[in-house]
Amino acid sequence: MPQHDDLAPFHILLGDGGVLTDPGMTDRYTRDHRDLMQGSTPAVLRPRSVEEVQGLVRLARAGGFGLVPQGGNTSYVGGATPEPGRRQLIVSLERMTRIRAVDPLNFTLACDAGIILADAQRAAEAEGLFLPLSLGAEGSCRLGGNLGTNAGGLQVLRYGMARDLVLGLEVVLPDGALFSDMRTLRKNNIGYDLKQLYIGAEGTLGIITGVVLKLWPAQAQRATAWIELAAGAPIPEMAATVRRETSDLVSTFELISASSLDLVAAMQGAGTGLKAGPGGAVLLELTASSSRIDLDAVLMGCLEDLMERSWVTDAVLAQSEAQRRAMWAVRETIPEGEKHAGGSVKHDIAVPISNITAFLERGAALLAEHLPEVRLSVYGHVGDGNLHYNLVVPQGRDRLDFTRAIEADFAHRLYAAAIELGGSFSAEYGIGRFKRDLLVRYADPARLALMETVKRSLDPDGIMNAGAML
Ligand code: FAD
Repeated sequence: MPQHDDLAPFHILLGDGGVLTDPGMTDRYTRDHRDLMQGSTPAVLRPRSVEEVQGLVRLARAGGFGLVPQGGNTSYVGGATPEPGRRQLIVSLERMTRIRAVDPLNFTLACDAGIILADAQRAAEAEGLFLPLSLGAEGSCRLGGNLGTNAGGLQVLRYGMARDLVLGLEVVLPDGALFSDMRTLRKNNIGYDLKQLYIGAEGTLGIITGVVLKLWPAQAQRATAWIELAAGAPIPEMAATVRRETSDLVSTFELISASSLDLVAAMQGAGTGLKAGPGGAVLLELTASSSRIDLDAVLMGCLEDLMERSWVTDAVLAQSEAQRRAMWAVRETIPEGEKHAGGSVKHDIAVPISNITAFLERGAALLAEHLPEVRLSVYGHVGDGNLHYNLVVPQGRDRLDFTRAIEADFAHRLYAAAIELGGSFSAEYGIGRFKRDLLVRYADPARLALMETVKRSLDPDGIMNAGAML
């Protein structure tokens, strides 16, 4: 247990409400989002400014504490959960939520990294601009966490991942120094692109305190369709055709399996009113910033093309905002549907878009061979080749017991299939604490060695999020 004196300098630096030690208050920060790990911490630190972050990093070094940066604590892999025995303080950026500037000529948003993603989206919207980073956790995740995990989300097909949206970054380094590169500059060739090192680093190299994000013109119109897929519909070719036929106006192309839709229907009792074809379903959305384009006509033409190719059996166009929301609600409640059915073991794999169908076929064959009794729920963002390949816990089976059994065997068969197809065993969630062993098992040794060299040279004392990723 820490002595009161060990934390006294942090109380002086951060003032009232800046240091939480009461377990009743720290519990929600130390428990991971999926309730798989109970972490522990001497204190949760809640700085209000970049200077306070610099100060607390210096104090932590002097006091022999480790630090775990935390945003909204929605990580699926225990990335923001301090490990018992490591004497790690949580640094929550939840009080650093300032919008620093919205710039309609540079199309940029500069803000603190503690801002909730949905608030950042609203700040852009208020100026007639659009921040395309969007994911199910957007009401609680924070930009620092989105950058720490290089979040993707629902519009990656058109706009890319968090890493693609960053123009400038501000990071407090493990010695308390500040790397400030908060530029709105698009072309900037002055050596290594250092900011990219900190994106996807899961808080292991420094604490991101500020960011400049790229924005786009606000969307003036949307056209949304729920598409029922024919058996054997080739997903990669469909996604490519849709992009071509719509002049690349596709912002969302979400694959939803029939079984995922069934889980949502079972949870809602009354059904969703939407159907999947034998090949599943796709939620397709086109957006445009100009109202001069007849987006509905573009979508209709594109759907006719898909039907002519016999890839689509039927499609429903959202006729109102309410209908559009209802379609989205189905996509967004799949995780709840899985929970309602007794939970699921999640595999967060990615393959090159061109290999999605091949992976689905291999996965189905593996399942039929090894776990024929298990229900599958597959859905994902086709734009980044990221599929949630989830196995529903069979009725009567203990969730943790089933999870351990799958992770010991079947999961590796799936990972091997993904890797053989040029993919990855971790796409959306990162490595965190739960996938450390998988990184060692599957990563190219040269890559691992390089990662360790980077970590040692930038954080020689291992202060930043030790135990996560490496
Ligand atoms: P946290 O969980 O707090 O932290 C995540 C990691 O980032 C940790 O390693 C942490 O140490 C580090 N970190 C946090 N803040 C900082 C900082 N300021 N500086 C440096 N490092 C920091 N992910 C996707 O990619 N696409 C999705 O579509 C998607 N959908 C999701 C839907 C739901 C319902 C949920 C619960 C999660 C989803 N995720 C998705 C997972 C996603 O990684 C997180 O939701 C989000 O990006 C993490 O943000 P956070 O603020 O909660 O970070």
